[in-house]
Amino acid sequence: MMNRMMTGKLFVLSGPSGVGKGTLREHALSDIPGLVYSISCTTRQPRPGETDGIEYRFITHEKFTQGIQQNLFLEYAHVHDDFYGTLRADVVNELESGHNVLLEIDVQGALQVKAKMPEAVLIFVAPPSVEVLEQRLRGRHTESEAALSVRLKNAAGELGLKDKYDYVIVNDDLEKASQELRQIIL
Ligand code: 5GP
Repeated sequence: MMNRMMTGKLFVLSGPSGVGKGTLREHALSDIPGLVYSISCTTRQPRPGETDGIEYRFITHEKFTQGIQQNLFLEYAHVHDDFYGTLRADVVNELESGHNVLLEIDVQGALQVKAKMPEAVLIFVAPPSVEVLEQRLRGRHTESEAALSVRLKNAAGELGLKDKYDYVIVNDDLEKASQELRQIIL
């Protein structure tokens, strides 16, 4: 069997919940030609306005577990209270087609990707401060109080791992942060 070359580059974006990575990702995808997003699988419930196959592939715990057993995931992690994972085939196919691929995943997943594909570029988005992060997360009104406190607790853990990343972007100004991300990818 011929071994196809993975000519695209892999970029991994992480950062605590509420830091604005979703918006940065959208800017990068609309601004940078040839950059594609790999849609993750998750066991969490869709939020209002989310569609299966667009934001995520929303799957059952059972299907997720099968995927783990069949070694279908390039990485996966238990984040907050659910499973999230990236299908290996999705990423490899895009890289082999010469596309650059952007993942938006948590720190545990990012470090798994780096271990398997050391050429992956890891980019961490940090808030200007933990207080600002909390304000933004509360302002979003997407989580219950309990879910919010899980996310805030996890944020502290994630911030502690940012030194393992190739780049850290502090998102105090969305336009500036977008520009930085664009420059890193280009
Ligand atoms: P949310 O539930 O807010 O969409 O995402 C929660 C967290 O899960 C975010 O930090 C997001 O980056 C992370 N996440 C999303 N998809 C994946 C994935 O495929 N793998 C891993 N490890 N984390 C993911």
